[in-house]
Amino acid sequence: MSIKENLQIIREKSYNAAVKAGRNADDIKLMAVSKFHPAESILEAVENSQFLFGENRVQEAMTKFPDIVSTHSEVNLHIIGTLQTNKVKNAITIASCIQSVDSLHLAQEIEKQCSKINKNIDVLFEIHTAEDSKSGFSDLNELYNVLSLIAENKFEHIVPKGLMTMAPFINDEKQIRKSFIKVRKLSEKLKIDFPMFDFSELSMGMSGDFEVAIEEGSTLIRVGTAIFGERQY
Ligand SMILES: *Cc1c(COP(=O)(O)O)cnc(C)c1O
Repeated sequence: MSIKENLQIIREKSYNAAVKAGRNADDIKLMAVSKFHPAESILEAVENSQFLFGENRVQEAMTKFPDIVSTHSEVNLHIIGTLQTNKVKNAITIASCIQSVDSLHLAQEIEKQCSKINKNIDVLFEIHTAEDSKSGFSDLNELYNVLSLIAENKFEHIVPKGLMTMAPFINDEKQIRKSFIKVRKLSEKLKIDFPMFDFSELSMGMSGDFEVAIEEGSTLIRVGTAIFGERQY
């Protein structure tokens, strides 16, 4: 199936999941995860009104996105993969949001690089909810520490927007749902503990589990394979 058809199918399924959950379908953004797919595929998605993209690796994103953005200014890229500190400098030049902030160390580097070029960047805090994954804050004290520093204006260039998680890669819907519920509940708590910040974004759900994620409050689904096909690693 073509990227155009896949996009139509995902939009329809996402709409139906929202309606089923009693939610407004406009509150759910679709991100196309284009890692390991060529610029031509990204452009095909753009032709079909897909403008929000996600990439895992900064280096790969640097080979594709500057060109695309120069001719398609509506295109917007988020970094969604584990970010090494030596990649932060480039990441903040091409991405409007880093979805995978998962340590104090990374937040410090983002602040350092952003202050050099005087750029503010949106961030999501990645929460560890799956045993088979390593990424995300597992120590919530560290997350609270980062948020306190932002609240004290120590990280002036970092703009919190919400949370992100990857559910476990298993077929057990109950476990997957549990991971999304955990993140939604945490965001409700953070809204109370840090009322000065925006925690409205919940980036949850991928090709295999975006409908469950929508039922559990996702506002941004990150879909790769179901749009672009299998990745050729
Ligand atoms: C690759 C990736 C996705 C997309 O996964 P699919 O199963 O291909 O939809 C979403 N989020 C993150 C963080 C990813 O690394």
